Amino acid sequence: MKKRSKRILTFYTDQQVCFDNIETASFSKSPLKPYLLMQRIKKKGLTGAFRMQSHFQPFTKTDFELAHTETYVHNVFNGEGNHRSNSLPWSKNLVHSVGYTNASLYEAKKYALLHPQTVCFAPVSGMHHAQPERGSGFCTFSGQVISAIKLYEEFGVSGAYFDLDGHFGNSIEDSRWFNPAINLAIPKGCNVNPTGTNESYVESFQKGLAHVGEHIKAGKIHYVVFAHGADSHEDDDIGGGCDTKHWLQCAQLFSEWVNAISAEIGKPLPVTLALFGGYRSDNYEAVLDLHLKSLLTCSRIICENPQCETLVIPKKACPREDWMTYKVA
Ligand SMILES: [Zn+2]
Repeated sequence: MKKRSKRILTFYTDQQVCFDNIETASFSKSPLKPYLLMQRIKKKGLTGAFRMQSHFQPFTKTDFELAHTETYVHNVFNGEGNHRSNSLPWSKNLVHSVGYTNASLYEAKKYALLHPQTVCFAPVSGMHHAQPERGSGFCTFSGQVISAIKLYEEFGVSGAYFDLDGHFGNSIEDSRWFNPAINLAIPKGCNVNPTGTNESYVESFQKGLAHVGEHIKAGKIHYVVFAHGADSHEDDDIGGGCDTKHWLQCAQLFSEWVNAISAEIGKPLPVTLALFGGYRSDNYEAVLDLHLKSLLTCSRIICENPQCETLVIPKKACPREDWMTYKVA
């Protein structure tokens, strides 16, 4: 079997960042997160785990209309009607950036599909609450849905999402009436959203892995996306019920599962990583470091990148205030 590339191919450009009004006027810092994460990677000296791909085209209105009404797309582009339904401050910069965030996910997934030895990464969040006629919960457009439909139309492939954000990813289910192509692009049961806390959350995730694994072995699912939202962590401002040990355990289980499935099907399973949610007003670096720890776990286990071997996953749940002291690199 072809060996995995050592570095995670990252679809990032500053164009996918909204700098206007986010720091000052937005609860969610997600439109800035791709930029902040790239800065954090540099600061921590972790650039060796990533390779950048910055040249890609943004989505157009036609792309967005695969998952949204013409009226809603018009409203967002022109700052009219329900353009604030995403609960983010509207700006031309925001409109410009969402064209690139959505394209980042699509380009990452497409590259992983065509070059499965390369793990790809779309450093993007908020997409999974958007609905056909409106935005919701800091999400403007349904990048998950659009990228899946485009890949289905171009290559006839179906995918699965492991959505480990702290909140249910409703975009996919809410789009089934609007564009039935999603039923083939992401079959029912392949939008995996674990529930529970700590052990029960991990068990729920493992059930999802097993379910999708059967679909992959049956040739019905051709790629996976791992969206390890940091708001499923218990310290998040609007977050879920996983302590650090269990949150990171999910990244480890996912990575080991990818290797096991790849061995069973005799080829590397196409894998794309994404960020999704994460909110802390007291310590946003903690959100970024959670994302980084998850990415480096995938790098260490799937890409076998020795640069990341020093990432230690604690055996026991560490006290909430202590988890930041665990070494990243
Ligand atoms: Zn969330």
